[in-house]
Amino acid sequence: MSAPEDQTNRMLNIRKSLTYGLGRRMTLYFGLMIGAFVSTLIYLNTITQLELVHTRFSERSDSLGILIQEVTLPYLFEGRPAELDIIYQELMRQPDILSLRFIDPDGFLLVNGSSEGNALFLGRVDDELVTEATASETTHIRNLQGRIQVAVPAIYGNVNYGTIRFDLDGTAANREVNLVLRRNLMFGVFFTLTGILLSIWISRRLTEPLARLNSATERAAKGNLNQSIVIRTNDEVESLADSFNLMLGNLRAWVKSLEDTQTKLEISSDDLNDKNAELQVVAEQAKSAEKAKSQFLARMSHEIRTPMNGVLGMTELLADTELTNNQLSLVDSIHTSGSTLLNIINDILDFSKIDSGHMTLRDDPYRPTELLDNTAQMLSFQAGQAGVDLITRVAPDLPKSLLGDESRLKQVIINLVGNALKFTDDGYVLINLTLKEENDAPVMQVDVCDTGCGIPEEKLAAVFDQFTQVDGSYSRKHQGTGLGLAIAKGFVELMGGRIWVKSTVGTGTTFTFNVPLMEPDIPLPPRALDSADLSGMKVLVLQSEPTALFVMNEMMSAWNAQVATFETAKTGLESLRDAQASGAPYDVVLTEMGMPDMGRKDLFRAIYEAKSGPETRVIALRPMNDAIHRSGEENLLTNCEVIKPVQAPKLLEALTAPHAGGIKQSAEENTTIDASATIGTAHKQVASELEAPSSDKTILIVDDNKTNRKLIEIFLNRLGITHHSASDGEEAVEIYRDCHPDLVLMDVSMPVMNGLDATREIRRLENANGDFQTHIIGLTAHSAPEDREACLDSGMNAHMAKPIKLAQLKDVIAEL
Ligand code: ATP
Ligand code: MG
Repeated sequence: MSAPEDQTNRMLNIRKSLTYGLGRRMTLYFGLMIGAFVSTLIYLNTITQLELVHTRFSERSDSLGILIQEVTLPYLFEGRPAELDIIYQELMRQPDILSLRFIDPDGFLLVNGSSEGNALFLGRVDDELVTEATASETTHIRNLQGRIQVAVPAIYGNVNYGTIRFDLDGTAANREVNLVLRRNLMFGVFFTLTGILLSIWISRRLTEPLARLNSATERAAKGNLNQSIVIRTNDEVESLADSFNLMLGNLRAWVKSLEDTQTKLEISSDDLNDKNAELQVVAEQAKSAEKAKSQFLARMSHEIRTPMNGVLGMTELLADTELTNNQLSLVDSIHTSGSTLLNIINDILDFSKIDSGHMTLRDDPYRPTELLDNTAQMLSFQAGQAGVDLITRVAPDLPKSLLGDESRLKQVIINLVGNALKFTDDGYVLINLTLKEENDAPVMQVDVCDTGCGIPEEKLAAVFDQFTQVDGSYSRKHQGTGLGLAIAKGFVELMGGRIWVKSTVGTGTTFTFNVPLMEPDIPLPPRALDSADLSGMKVLVLQSEPTALFVMNEMMSAWNAQVATFETAKTGLESLRDAQASGAPYDVVLTEMGMPDMGRKDLFRAIYEAKSGPETRVIALRPMNDAIHRSGEENLLTNCEVIKPVQAPKLLEALTAPHAGGIKQSAEENTTIDASATIGTAHKQVASELEAPSSDKTILIVDDNKTNRKLIEIFLNRLGITHHSASDGEEAVEIYRDCHPDLVLMDVSMPVMNGLDATREIRRLENANGDFQTHIIGLTAHSAPEDREACLDSGMNAHMAKPIKLAQLKDVIAEL
């Protein structure tokens, strides 16, 4: 630090220490003020008194001068200066006159008032004071070293007779001056000291209560609230002290209430701890009860599914035997009721799993188009029965493969479409898959729109609640448990999406849900369908439903076909005739089975006539139930049929089928039907399965349920396949040792030894003997990921959920 800076800092510190504190500052300011005031007062007083002394001595000098002049002048007029000398000597006897002389106008000493000899005309006097008085013709006085020198010009008329010059003794004057100065200095010191003491006293008096307040506040800040301060100054400080006391009182009350609250809290915290402990016990009990409930549900579901599996399978087999129409209808009823029961059990199990947070989802790649086609196919029979057009659409910008739980998505869509079909008497149901964005993230949005009865506004909020139905009366038209939407909501939310509904009574309802869009790292291989090219193909579409026409147009336009759509038979037929006449006929006519303005038979006849040539092919769009229950005598003039809802691969197949060369009177052979929905079609499946060539493979059926074993045995018998049966794992291992089957259908839950242990044992034996690995398929009650994983972990090759579809089993055998 440099020297000047050091100096400045020191000054600042001194100033700080001098002015720290209200008392010091007040003392300093008061002291300075009083000092300045007293100094000014003393100074003015001194000046005045000195002036007075000076005036007094001047007046004396003046009056003495006038006296001497009056005495002197007559002697001068008369020319008797010698007598004047005597007078002067007399005057000199005055104690304060030290000298007295008269100097003539020429500067010569005329009279010298000295007693020692006559001094008349003694010589020239060189006195500055005399010169000045003579020149100015006024009295001049000078105080010099204890002498007051006075020069008085003796003027009479206009004549200057000379100058009287005398010295007075100045000691008295000086003494008076000294006295004045000393006295005033003493007064100054006295008053200044008194002032300072007074200011100290005043500042102490003023600041002392503040200092007391300050230290009380400091003590309070340190936590001492049990104090009060008494200040009686009758001013703001007193009211400040009162407020301080009041504040301390309030603080004491608050602290007290805080302490009380703390005590209460401690007591209630102890209570809470006790309650918590109790709750923990209750929670544990609830958890184990929940676990027991889940286990019970899983067990019950398994126990019910297993016999139901047998009932349904046996019914299918029974339907395939020689039965009368009445018997077939009874078997059909058994199958329908069984399926409904199985669905209800599945719903309850799903709901309970979602509710208890035990539902796990899979994340596998799937194709949205396939998801939609498969779902729609499952609902096609119901749609046909309801007389409702089921239309599906996948937006072209939706990625071709996605990640997710396909079967659960399917379940949600089936629930929504099932409802839509249930509550729609005519019109259409549209399933629309689109790519949307929510919170800046892509989502797959699924809309299920119907043109049904709608839901009243006030009931909309409740439809997602479990066991809630808009019409809950006993007389309601539609069956159901009211769980479908609750399950759908549970699944959608589990997938990270949301579901909502909009509806207008009498117009229709739209249920919408979305799920986060996830794409697999490796997309599924593209299908031929995605790159199909129908350039140059002219297609005429006849459909009464504009939405269906739009979707059909979009689908075929994506394949570059030239599409013309018509909502009435009349306009469509006109276009068909015009095209024929202009020499550019349509390649394909795609039509509904009937149009509002023309019945089925007339329509096909009219199309046949209008196209007037074999080059235009006619494809009929047929509802599923219509295709199944068609009467044998029906002879339609079509080349081919596509079952509604129209699936892109099936449509493409129909459009690109080699030219049939002529109209089929019955389109039975080309019909693209997947009729797995009812018992009526089940016998067809089984029949076709029986046509499969018999296999030389050996199959081991392991199941503790006799009916299930029997079902598969009958099925395998019909296929002519050698098989063995075991009722538990241990028996299965024994049979394996003896006959080394090619395929083992292994139930998982069994007494004695379960399927997982039996599989491990078989794998152990195979490893030990270096045998060929038997194909083992696990059979479980449900298809949850954990069940599948448990099967694969134990060494099984695959997993199948019960009830086993015979068609599925046939595929597995074919792959062996
Ligand atoms: P479940 O689905 O369990 O067999 P459900 O169909 O009655 O029975 P939800 O699917 O949960 O039960 O539907 C609840 C109720 O919501 C239905 O009973 C019906 O009243 C109403 N609802 C659902 N979808 C529609 C729709 N598309 N149009 C009109 N009402 C509907
Ligand atoms: Mg439902």
